[in-house]
Formats: sequence, structure tokens, C-alpha cells
Amino acid sequence: MAEIPGAWSPSEINLSKANAVIEATKASGNLYRNGLGMIASENIISPMVQKVVCSDLHGRYAEGLPGKRYYQGCDDFDTIESIGIDLAKKVFNANFANIQSISGTVSNIAALKALAKPGDKITAVSTADGGHISHARMGAVGLRDLDLSTYPWDIDRMEPDVDGACKLIRELNPKVCLIGQSVFLFPTPLKEIAAAAHEVGAKVMYDGAHVLGLIAGGQFQDPLREGADIMTGSSHKTFPGPQGGFLLSSSQDDSMHRKLNNAIFPGTCSSYHLHHVAGKVIALAEFEEYGETYARDIVRNAQALGQCLAAEGFDVLAEGRNYTASHQVLTRHGEIDSGAGARAAQLLEDAGIVTNMNMLPGDTKAMTPSGLRLGVQELTRVGMGVNEMAEVARLFAKVILEEKDPSAVKMEVIELKSNFQTIRYCFNEEEQSGYVL
Ligand SMILES: *Cc1c(COP(=O)(O)O)cnc(C)c1O
Repeated sequence: MAEIPGAWSPSEINLSKANAVIEATKASGNLYRNGLGMIASENIISPMVQKVVCSDLHGRYAEGLPGKRYYQGCDDFDTIESIGIDLAKKVFNANFANIQSISGTVSNIAALKALAKPGDKITAVSTADGGHISHARMGAVGLRDLDLSTYPWDIDRMEPDVDGACKLIRELNPKVCLIGQSVFLFPTPLKEIAAAAHEVGAKVMYDGAHVLGLIAGGQFQDPLREGADIMTGSSHKTFPGPQGGFLLSSSQDDSMHRKLNNAIFPGTCSSYHLHHVAGKVIALAEFEEYGETYARDIVRNAQALGQCLAAEGFDVLAEGRNYTASHQVLTRHGEIDSGAGARAAQLLEDAGIVTNMNMLPGDTKAMTPSGLRLGVQELTRVGMGVNEMAEVARLFAKVILEEKDPSAVKMEVIELKSNFQTIRYCFNEEEQSGYVL
């Protein structure tokens, strides 16, 4: 009798590896369920988004655009993507939206493919000043073989030096002026820079990866009306959707729209992760409903956290500008290049508070920086407000300034977090089911 493949008993070794993955996934969920997630680029997804992200769409393909597909079976997905394109245009107030990009980085690669040719000049914020790796030679800019120059930086204002940036653009005649950072405390003075860029015929590309939710919620700046031709971004940072990207434009020009669509497919994606696209569309619908409130609460919490950390005795950057106008707060924990940020991040993790070390102005080494970058978008998402920001600052002080035993502080973290287990600013608010299997 022929053996039935399904009846084979699995190898113990491989089954145990698979089980180890399940166990580690549960443990990772518990870390965030019981702890304070304060990585500025992260967020959690709503119960409705979770549903489609775990759906059959995961295994499907839909190359092309709604109504113009290469495969059969796409009619239902056409409905999803069409709703999504309309919603994205509305939420971001854009004339063009492509919602297929699988990440912010892919959106950037696509935008650079549409806007520039290898060898063209580009200006951007340096990674040392907070620019993203995709704006650097080691990332997308290098991948397109673009000739990069970086803007001078105003350390006090934590933004590009406007006069210096405009002068650079006028001298250089770049093809693309890239704006936006990963360390992003304040809106960029975009109007002046965009005017200089357009004067020399350059396109202005604004990377809103971090601040996309704040922009859509009307709480940061409005790049597409301040001179940006293209806006790229991630769908999972302050915009609280599943991981992915957006590619948006203020252009009315059909040929530019075609260029941008072609830069995503066939340019940079084949499968574009349909389950995540469906998740993005639900997140857009939820954002239409709750986004403005969410964005307002995030900025209010970030400013409160900055003030409370300073009151506890921490060195918080940009005191003169009320610390922040975004979801981020930066703290300095020691001398330049001392690694004090790395040590602080480890102590905090031991207490159940997850942050990342970050280079601050003057630091030259990414692995031994002096600072921390904190984000409040996830804590806000589970309902924390300004009172809780004061409690969070107190916990930071206990761990770092008072050198209390992190495992003792962890008990207080778990206690605080136990009251914030519901995902807010979404349809069907529910307990944080996404954290556990
Ligand atoms: C996070 C980030 C990106 C990349 O986004 P992914 O979705 O992680 O690929 C791009 N640009 C900036 C400024 C970022 O901070």
C-alpha cells in the first residue's frame, strides 16, 4: 500500500525548531503587551486590520492596477485596492496615490527611479543629522547611483539650515531635493527650500515615513501644499497600519502618475503583499474617522514626555522649542560617542521599556551613541495620556538616574501597562489580541 505523505511523523528536530518559533513569537508579544513600546518607528494594528493581514489574500497575486491585471481572480482585490486609492488620496489630500509599495524604503527607491537617472545630483539630510539610510550612498540613493550632497544642519533648531540648504541647491542644480528624516522633531521649513529647488528645475521629494500619521492628522506640516512634488512614507509608524509604504503626489500630470505607478510595478515590486494592502485600506478608513484626534494626542503626549523627563533631571534636546513637535523626544545620557545611550537603552529594556539608542549631534559612531530616541505613538494608541507620560518619565528616572534595580521597576511597568490593554482610535476597540498568539 502506498504511503500517505500526511501520515509521516515529522522529524523531532524540525518540529522543535518550528515550536521554538511559536514560543519566541509569543514571548515577543508578551514583551510588548506587558512592557512599554517606545521605538519611534513602531505601532500596533487594529483588530480589523489584524483580520485581513491573516487572511487568504496573503497567498495571492495582483500585478498591475485595478481593472488592468495580468492574472484572473483579482476582481475582489480590485474592489479593495480601488477603495484604498480613493481613501489615500483623501486622507493625504493628494492628486495621486499608489498604495502597493511594500515598505517606506521601496517607496523611496521607486520615487528615485521615477525622478532621477543614475549619475544625477541629489540633496538630502545626512544620516548623522537624522536622515534615513535610504537617503545615503549605502542605501537607495547609492542603489540608483545618484551623486549625493547633504544640507548644512542647524543643531539648535534640529532642522536643515534653510539659507545654507537653499544656497547648496542653487549652486548644485540637483535633479531631486530630498527632505525628511528618521530623527524628526520639527517640521522642515519646506516652502523656502522647495522654492529654491523649483527655481533650478529640481523635484522636491518629502520622505514622511515617520510623521505620515501626524501629517494626515493635520498636526505637523502639509508637504504637498508646501511645495513637495512627491511624498513617500511608511504605513506603520505614526500612521497606524500594517507594515508597508505609500507613494503620493501633488502632480496633476498623467504622465508623472504613470511614471510613479511603473516605478512600483514593474519597477520595484512583483507581488506587493495583498494582505498588507487590504490592511492599509482598513487603516485608512479608520484614520479618516479617528486620525486627527490620534495625531493631536500623540504630539501632546510627546511634548508632555519631553517636559516631564526634563523636570526629572534628564538632558532633553531642543528645550528652546518645547522639545518636540512630533511623536519623538531625544535625550542625551553622557558625552559624545560615550555609548551612554546604549547603556541607558539596555537598562530600560531590563525594566520592560523598549527604546533605541540614537546618534545625537556630534556623535560619530552608531554603536556607541550618547542618546536615546523615544516615540509615544504606541503608548498613545493604547490610551495613555499626559498623566501617564509623567509616570513614564518617573520610571525612566528610577532606572537611569536613581539606578534602582531594573527588575523591581519592571514590576511597576507591568502594573502600569496592565491598565492599557485596549487598542484605540479604530473600529471595534479590543484588547491587544495582536500581542498574543
Ligand atoms: C523608517 C524610514 C524609512 C523606511 O521605511 P521602511 O518602511 O522601514 O522601509 C524611510 N525613510 C525614513 C525617513 C524612515 O525613517
